[in-house]
Amino acid sequence: MAASNDCQHLDFAVYAAINRLTDSDELLTGFSADVKVNCKVCGLPFVFLGLPMGLNLDGACVSVDGQELRVAIAPSFEWVGPGKVSAVRGFSATFTRGEAKGGDQ
Ligand SMILES: [Zn+2]
Repeated sequence: MAASNDCQHLDFAVYAAINRLTDSDELLTGFSADVKVNCKVCGLPFVFLGLPMGLNLDGACVSVDGQELRVAIAPSFEWVGPGKVSAVRGFSATFTRGEAKGGDQ
C-alpha cells in the first residue's frame, strides 16, 4: 500500500465510461458504468469500499485494485426494482493469503 502524502485531497477528478455490453453474436446483454476518482491536486487514486471485486451485470463490483467502480445500469423502463433481477451474471474475485492457486474452484 502506498504511503500517504501531505495532500488534503480537497478537489477531485472523476472519470466515467458507459459501456454497451454484447455477447459474441453482438446481441445486447446489458450496460455498465465504470467510474474512477483521483485527487485533482496530487493525482492519488481513490478506492471504492464495501463492494466485491469482479463484474456483476446485475449489480455493482470493483476492479481488483478497488480503483474502478463497475455498476450495472439499464434504461429506466427496464428497471424492475431492487432484488428483482433474473440471474446474477458476471464474475467475482477474492484475495487469499498464501500461495496463488489457478483454475476454477
Ligand atoms: Zn491529494
